[in-house]
Amino acid sequence: MRIDLHTHSTASDGTDTPAELVRNAAAAGLDVVAITDHDNTAGWTEAVDALPRGLTLVRGMEMSCIGLGEDGLPVPVHLLAYLFDPTDRSFAEERERLRGERMERVRAMAERMVADGLPIDPDAVLASAGPSAGRPHLARALVAAGVVPSVDAAFEELLAPHGPYYVEKGDTPLRRAVEMIATAGGVSVIAHARARKRGRLLALDDIRELAALGLGGLELDHPDHSAQDREILADLAAELGLLTTGSSDYHGANKTIRLGQFTTDPAQFEVLAGKASGVPVITS
Ligand SMILES: [Zn+2]
Ligand SMILES: [Zn+2]
Repeated sequence: MRIDLHTHSTASDGTDTPAELVRNAAAAGLDVVAITDHDNTAGWTEAVDALPRGLTLVRGMEMSCIGLGEDGLPVPVHLLAYLFDPTDRSFAEERERLRGERMERVRAMAERMVADGLPIDPDAVLASAGPSAGRPHLARALVAAGVVPSVDAAFEELLAPHGPYYVEKGDTPLRRAVEMIATAGGVSVIAHARARKRGRLLALDDIRELAALGLGGLELDHPDHSAQDREILADLAAELGLLTTGSSDYHGANKTIRLGQFTTDPAQFEVLAGKASGVPVITS
C-alpha cells in the first residue's frame, strides 16, 4: 500500500489541476493521496469528482502558522490539517481572514514598489495570483518587469524580511491552529519541522506543548529532512505518542519531487484516519 499525504495542486502553488493530481497519483501507483493546498480547500471538489477507481483521497490543507523558534523568536511553521469539517465556523472564518490578509499583504508590498517607481501593477499581480497570493507572485512580476534577473534574486534582496518591500504576515498562531483543527474534527500534523534549508527551526519544546493541545503527528519522511532530522522527529513522536507520516510535498513541474517519492506507513495512516471525524476519506 503506497500512501502520499502531502501534495499541491493549482489551488495553490502546484502545476497539476486537482483532477490531474488524482489521475497522476493513480498513474504513479499510489493507493492513497492527500490534497493539501496552502490555506484553502478550493481543490477538494474537483479532486473528488475526478477520483480514479481504486484510489483513496484524503482531503486536507497546509496551513501557514507562526510557532516558537529554537532561538525563542517567532518562526513560520506549516501545519498539515487532514479530514476536518470545512464548514466548522471558527475554522472557516480563520481561513477567510487569512485569504483577505494574504491579498492585503501582497497589495501593500506592491504599492510600496509603485511608490518607489518600480513598474509593478498591484491589480495585475493580485489578479494573476488568485487565492494563495504571496511573495512568489511578486517575484515573478519583478522578473517579468526586468527589475531583477531571477525569482531567487527577488527573494534575496527586494522581498527578503530585511528588504525594502517586506510586509509581515498575519499567520495563525500554531497553538490556535492545532486547537481549531481538532475542534473541526481534523488531525493536525506539523509539516517538514526540521527543514533547515527553509530557515530557522521550530523549538522541540514547542512541539511538546502542542502535543498536549491535541497535535496529531509529525511529518517524518520529507525531501527536505536529513536522516538525522528524521531520527530526532521519530524519537520525539515516540516520546509524545504522535503519529508519523511520510510525503513527497509534490508541486508538479514547480519542483523535481515525484508523487510517492516518500510515503506513509499504512498503520500510521490507519491511526490518522481513525482519529478524524470531520469528513471521511473517499474511495471511488
Ligand atoms: Zn510546507
Ligand atoms: Zn507543501
